[in-house]
Amino acid sequence: MSQQTWEGRHFAVWGLGKQGQAAVQYLARRGARLTVLDRGTADAHQATLQLFQEWADKITYLWGGELPKTWVGMESILLSPGVPFDLKPLLVARAAGVPMVATLDFAARQTDVPMVAVTGSAGKSTTVSLLGAMLEGSTLPSFVGGNLGTPLLAWLDRETSADRLVIECSSFQLEASTSLRPIVAVLTNLGENHLDRHGTMEHYAASKAQLFRHLDSSAWIVARANDAWVEQVIHGSPGRVVLFYPDGEASEGAMTIGRDLVLRHPSWGEERIPWTALHLRGLHNRENAMAAALAARLAGASREGILKGLESFHGLPHRLEDVGVLNGVRYYNDSKATTPDAAVRSIQAFSLTREPVHALLGGRSKGNRFDALNQDLGANVKRFYLFGEAAATIAEDLQTQVPWSIYSHMEDALVAAHENALAGDVVLLSPACASFDQYLNFEERGDCFRDWVLQRYERGHV
Ligand code: ADP
Repeated sequence: MSQQTWEGRHFAVWGLGKQGQAAVQYLARRGARLTVLDRGTADAHQATLQLFQEWADKITYLWGGELPKTWVGMESILLSPGVPFDLKPLLVARAAGVPMVATLDFAARQTDVPMVAVTGSAGKSTTVSLLGAMLEGSTLPSFVGGNLGTPLLAWLDRETSADRLVIECSSFQLEASTSLRPIVAVLTNLGENHLDRHGTMEHYAASKAQLFRHLDSSAWIVARANDAWVEQVIHGSPGRVVLFYPDGEASEGAMTIGRDLVLRHPSWGEERIPWTALHLRGLHNRENAMAAALAARLAGASREGILKGLESFHGLPHRLEDVGVLNGVRYYNDSKATTPDAAVRSIQAFSLTREPVHALLGGRSKGNRFDALNQDLGANVKRFYLFGEAAATIAEDLQTQVPWSIYSHMEDALVAAHENALAGDVVLLSPACASFDQYLNFEERGDCFRDWVLQRYERGHV
């Protein structure tokens, strides 16, 4: 445990989600006094409050939008991702001389372990997991977390020993971030995502740019080549840029040549790794692997370690997860594909094999248009099965030869796809939407899909 003590110092923690909880535990354990603000109710946070019982005398709770009588005496306000940093009360606090700090920035200041930070619209979790495996393979034990899995502060609360931190940063986390200093910062890609919250692509891009704007000049930037939005985000950053190329070759960066992943850089010359080492399907996962390999190499990994990492990684649940075969039909759970772009990429993953795809799409729209589904998907899509709140909106945007039908729930769509699919076909849940209209989160939706398949598997439908 870190030796730093915060005895007698007073912080506000705004937002009691996963990151806020970690902040409370970290600071309270080290003696700080805390004022916790959350727009919810004490009832809704019962389980969390149990965890804080030992510090009951140090914590004041303000629920449902209640504000402290004064901000005077507070050192800073730790802001959870998702709390808009331009909220009026925050401006008042700032005017009273209390700075706000993103929880991730605060966490990063508590450690000297070099950090690799990953952001982007899609592929973050896969890329950080691959990166972790590659660093591990290079005997550089790493903490992998952030937005995915364990918050950095929760890890620092218990442990501080690692050679690298690999941190997944969401745009919400980056919005209020001004002081992250990773040695490598990765931008996987930039497509429409979270426009319900960010409003415009410009605003969304600006939040991602926060990670790159404050880099040291010695830091590396790993980013996707030939992508106008990506260029806009990293433009003007002091960091040194190395790109990965989804198509084509270049004298420097990561690319595919023949059957190999090739890494070229003056620091090591040229290194090749056979793509057969990657177990994940889809060209989008090759992009994630290129980004991870380049970032790992720049952060100190070896070619052998990168190879080991690729070989050891079999993918995350809910990301093109192969859940099994029923009557010759293979089922894939890609519940994490919550934008049209992500859904398109996973449908395209079946283009090479030309397996006929029954694609399940729907849920709660994040404010995107769905016209991306009208492009040539390369794959043989037999039918779109539209479900949930966004079904009618998707149908309005669809102008394609592919037939579609509407269902109220994901499970109804799944039953229909199951009935229509023939041996050799694929049933793919790749919803292009958030899950909150009918599920707690994307995990619950994916679990529901997987359980449905596995139950039939157990009943001998194999
Ligand atoms: P994130 O953490 O950014 O949401 P994940 O690695 O969890 O990304 O992948 C989420 C979904 O996004 C996947 O299920 C897949 O459909 C899609 N996806 C993953 N990587 C990419 C990529 N490089 N480009 C486009 N879509 C991707």
